[in-house]
Amino acid sequence: MKFQAPRGTYDILPDEAHKWHYLEKIIRKNAKFFDYKEIRFPIFERLELFQRGVGKSTDIVEKEMYVFKDKKGRNFALRPEGTASIVRAYIEHNMNSSQKNPLRLFYFGPMFRYARPQKGRYRQFYQFGFEYIGNPEPIADAEIIAIGWKIYQDMKIPNVNLELNSVGCVNCRRKYYKELKKFLIRKRGNFCSVCQKRMNSNPMRTFDCKNKNCQNLLNNAPIMLENLCPECESHFQKVLDLLNQMNVKYNVNSKIVRGLDYYTRTAFEYKIEYLGAQDAIGGGGRYDELIEYLGGKSTPAVGLSGGLERIILSLNEAKIDIQNEESLDVFIIPLEEKFVKISIEIMQKLHKKSISSIISDSQTSLKNNLKYCDENRVKFAIIIGENEIKSKEFTIKNINEKSQKKIPTNEVCEYIFIQLKNN
Ligand SMILES: [Zn+2]
Ligand SMILES: [Zn+2]
Repeated sequence: MKFQAPRGTYDILPDEAHKWHYLEKIIRKNAKFFDYKEIRFPIFERLELFQRGVGKSTDIVEKEMYVFKDKKGRNFALRPEGTASIVRAYIEHNMNSSQKNPLRLFYFGPMFRYARPQKGRYRQFYQFGFEYIGNPEPIADAEIIAIGWKIYQDMKIPNVNLELNSVGCVNCRRKYYKELKKFLIRKRGNFCSVCQKRMNSNPMRTFDCKNKNCQNLLNNAPIMLENLCPECESHFQKVLDLLNQMNVKYNVNSKIVRGLDYYTRTAFEYKIEYLGAQDAIGGGGRYDELIEYLGGKSTPAVGLSGGLERIILSLNEAKIDIQNEESLDVFIIPLEEKFVKISIEIMQKLHKKSISSIISDSQTSLKNNLKYCDENRVKFAIIIGENEIKSKEFTIKNINEKSQKKIPTNEVCEYIFIQLKNN
C-alpha cells in the first residue's frame, strides 16, 4: 500500500519551509511592536464551544467541522478557528482579573475545516490572529485593523484591499432586521435555498452568499450602515478617522457582514486579486457580545484572523521571491575517516560561536561534497586532509566567491566568525 497525505492536507517540504518562517517572522515582529502576547490553545475542544462560539447557522458549524467522539462518548471537534478557544481560555483563567485590562493576544497555528479542497483552500490550514479584549473604544478597532494592514504590507503582498463596514449593535439591528426581513421575504422564492433558510434566523447573512443571483437581488436591499443608532454611527466614524490618521487605505463596503450573531459594529476583510477573482486573505471585527455569550462577564473585544496558504500562493503568483537565508554556514569535509575526530572538535567550536556547521560523510568524494555546498548555498567549506594536518593549516573555501585560503588551524573558527559578521 502506498500512503498519501489526506485529501485537503499537504506537506511543507524543506525547500519551502523558509517561506513560512518569513511570514511567521513578520507576524511575530508586529505582535511584538504592538505588545500582543502569544497564546497557544488545544487543537481540539468540546464541540459545544464551537457551536456556541462560532454560531450554529454558520457554514463552519453546519458543514465543515471535524467532529469526533472520545472513548467516553463526549463530542469534540478539531478547532476550525481561534477566537472561540481564546474566549474559553480567557474566561477559564480569569484573565481579566489576573492581568490588567485590556488584554492583547495573538496566535498562530493550524485550523481544520472539512470543505471541498480548492487551490489555496485546504482542510488543514494555517491561521494567525490578534485579539484585543477589554477596550470598547474605536481606537481598539483601528489598532487591530492597522496591524493586519501592516502585516500584509510587510509581507509585500501586492494590491491588498481593505473593506470595512459596521454591522451595528443589538439595538439598531433589531429595527433593521425587521426591515431587511420584509425586503427579503417579498423576493423569497428567487433566493437560493440556503438564503431562504437563513432569512429568518440571521437575515444579514444573505449578504455573505456567494451566489450571483442572490447578490443581484440584494442590490436594493436596506443596508445596516444607513440604519445605525447614533452611538454605532459615531463609533464607525471615529474608526474611519483613526484609520485615516494611520494612513490605512480602506473602502466602505456594506456587504461585509462576517455573518455571526456575536459580531457588533466594525466588520472588515482584507482582499486580494487572486486567481482572477477577489478573495479574502483575512478579516475580523468587533465581538462585544461573545464573551458574555460563552459564560463570561460582559466584555468588549475586537479581533482579526488571516490565512497563510493564499498568501504563499499569491506571493508565488506575483513572482515575489522570498530569499532563503537559512543556509548552512560551514560544511566540514574530512578527506579520510581518521580526520573525523578533529572535524568534530571544530564543529563544536563553531556551534559555541553560534555558527551552523555539519560534517560531511567521509565516503562521499570531495567533488560531490563541494557540489552539495554549491547547490545548498553553504557559505564555507573546511577541507581537512593529510597535508592540512601536517602544515597545521586548513583550506577554507568561500563557496559563493569561489575562492579559497589557508588558515592556521587554531584561527579557523575566529576567521569564519569574522567573515560571517562582515557579510
Ligand atoms: Zn447600534
Ligand atoms: Zn443565496
